[in-house]
Amino acid sequence: MPARQLDLFDPRRWTREHRVHAASRLADGLSARLSAPVRLVVHDNRSTMVSWRRDRGLVRYRVHHLFLDAPPEVIDALATFGRDQGAGRRAAGRRIDAFVRIHRGRIGEGRPVRLRARGRHHDLQALLEEESAAHFAGAVRARIGWGSGRNGGRQRSIKTGVYLHDQRLIRIHPALDRPEVPAYYVRAVVFHEMLHQVVPVIERRGRRVVHSTEFRRRERAHPVYERARAWEARNLHVLLGGR
Ligand SMILES: [Zn+2]
Repeated sequence: MPARQLDLFDPRRWTREHRVHAASRLADGLSARLSAPVRLVVHDNRSTMVSWRRDRGLVRYRVHHLFLDAPPEVIDALATFGRDQGAGRRAAGRRIDAFVRIHRGRIGEGRPVRLRARGRHHDLQALLEEESAAHFAGAVRARIGWGSGRNGGRQRSIKTGVYLHDQRLIRIHPALDRPEVPAYYVRAVVFHEMLHQVVPVIERRGRRVVHSTEFRRRERAHPVYERARAWEARNLHVLLGGR
């Protein structure tokens, strides 16, 4: 499975083919937003992360390779940066800076979040890549790892996973990394967290609804959903038993 060699977090480790694809996707995204042809050069220069200039009808962008994996709102900011003046441009600059700060680990500065995806019994990275390919056309990109699971004593419930939107980071509770927890259950938990990346939080009567009707509909449509729910109902004590 060649996809296993792909580090979804660090574009420098992508295959050349994948980088070329991501670069053309970014150039197309900018071009659509600017309604102008875009030439894009991807570089490794940390001092000037983003620059652009107009060249007759063309907009020439030079961007650091970490933007190859930029989410749509950051592509919006890159486009605004190359188009607007004044306040709009400054706001876009701040959004770009925030993206760079969050992903600084990629460019060898600051301290990247250390993540361990390969457990003793379940490989989260493999599950993430399989689920991304099978259910999201490869579009969900997130880092994934086992959580520390630090919490004293026995509990009555367990938070099996969490998705941190601003870091595009999924953490899975380490109690799931055991031989008696079936792979399809871990898969369902990983899928749930991935779904948070694509199904937005909605507001209803002033409340944030994280698991909207649409979210639940898509979750139930997963082929292992029923089995995973049934397993969880029978085996919650396994998960609550700690490590
Ligand atoms: Zn959730």
